[in-house]
Amino acid sequence: MIKMNQILDKRELAPRIKEVVVYNPKIASKVRAGQFIVVRVCEEGERIPLTVADWNRDKGTLNIVFQEVGVSTYKLGKLGVGDVIKDMVGPLGNPSEISLFGTVICVGGGVGVPAIYPIARELKGAGNKVVSIIGARSKDLLIYEEEMRRVSDELRVTTDDGSKGRKGFVSDELRDLLKSGLKVDRVITVGPAIMMKVCAEVTRPYNIKTIASLNPIMVCGMGMCAACRVEVAGKTRFVCFEGPEFDAHQVDFDVLLMRLNAYKAEEQMALKKFLEGGG
Ligand code: FAD
Ligand code: MG
Repeated sequence: MIKMNQILDKRELAPRIKEVVVYNPKIASKVRAGQFIVVRVCEEGERIPLTVADWNRDKGTLNIVFQEVGVSTYKLGKLGVGDVIKDMVGPLGNPSEISLFGTVICVGGGVGVPAIYPIARELKGAGNKVVSIIGARSKDLLIYEEEMRRVSDELRVTTDDGSKGRKGFVSDELRDLLKSGLKVDRVITVGPAIMMKVCAEVTRPYNIKTIASLNPIMVCGMGMCAACRVEVAGKTRFVCFEGPEFDAHQVDFDVLLMRLNAYKAEEQMALKKFLEGGG
């Protein structure tokens, strides 16, 4: 008998980046592109938000792609096929706005690529021309390339070190695409905060509506704890229930970046202790 939140499949997509397929028919029946779940790996575990990269409503499964960056994601990475994730809440956040915009550029970086994948797929399904730009630090960290190729009319790849595709950042490719005169109706960007900040600056002079899926520290995921607050158009907004997508031109990315680093020392100490204790 399959158990709720049981891991049915697991793949290592890149060093320290894993994908798990988890059984949760309740979430799988409702989830839409752009939404996330909050996971607690074990009884003593903290709550962490993770985007739903894909789902199968018939099988009742969700695909989650995560990068091992600290204690909770390392713990999640240690679970194998057959293991059960303690609890999962969702789907949380608002689904992406999907309509016929025209030409849409989807810009994904790192683990933001699997997160943008269902959004690109739905946008393509709605009749948009989807041009995707995906990137990573190097070739071996580039994930979901084939998935993105399948749902894009055109796919461009960048790596910071030039080991695959264009040498540079996704924002460099975005800048050149816009300079080339391509008429673009909307840009969606999912990835590290600094990447989304730069993408927003690239599109601002062109006045192209740009959406960023924000990734602040988030705890409850349902509007109670206020950990995920950000500044958008000078107002405090909660990413968990008002987002995660906002108009990137209105987001104060510097506040987001600062708050993401607020607990770095404690997180590093906790990871060191965890690894010294044998993981
Ligand atoms: P820690 O060592 O505790 O933290 C490492 C860094 O991760 C911190 O410096 C901070 O920047 C960030 N972080 C820490 N705690 C949290 C938290 N509770 N919430 C958010 N960020 C935190 N990551 C993925 O790999 N795949 C995803 O699909 C994904 N989707 C996300 C969707 C949303 C809506 C948000 C807000 C974040 C998402 N993240 C995703 C980021 C992921 O939640 C963090 O990497 C994770 O919580 C880190 O936990 P940790 O204990 O392993 O690392
Ligand atoms: Mg943590």
